[in-house]
Amino acid sequence: MSTLFRKIIDREIPADIVFEDELCMAFRDIHPQAPTHVLVIPKKEIPSLADARAEDQALLGHLLLTIRSLAVTLGLADGYRVVANCGAHGGQSVDHLHFHLLGGRHLGWPPG
Ligand code: AMP
Repeated sequence: MSTLFRKIIDREIPADIVFEDELCMAFRDIHPQAPTHVLVIPKKEIPSLADARAEDQALLGHLLLTIRSLAVTLGLADGYRVVANCGAHGGQSVDHLHFHLLGGRHLGWPPG
C-alpha cells in the first residue's frame, strides 16, 4: 500500500515542497517542531534507515548533502539538527525513510 510520502511524491497529496530533484524531495512538516522543520525523503521507497542497503550508499550521501545545501538556503546559519526516527522505539510514524531538518531556535538535548 502506498505511504503518505509516496502520495506526496506523486502529487496525490499537497505539500509545501522546498526542493526536488530526480532522487529526493524536501517539504515542510505539517506539524513543525521548530521555526524551520523540513522532511527530506528519497523517491525510492525505503521504509526506514534499518532497511537501507549497501546499494543505497550513494543515495544516502545525496540525501545528507541535500540537507546540508537546504540548511544554507533556508538560512540556518546558527546551526540545525538532522533526525531520522527509526522503528517503534525511535518514534517513526511514516514508513518511508525521511530525515527531519530542524532549526531556527535552540534545540534541547537529550530528546524525549
Ligand atoms: P516520523 O514521526 O519521524 O515518522 O515523522 C513523520 C513526520 O511526518 C511527522 O513529523 C509528521 O508531522 C509529518 N507529516 C505527517 N503528515 C504530513 C503531511 N501530509 N505533510 C507533511 N508532513 C507530514
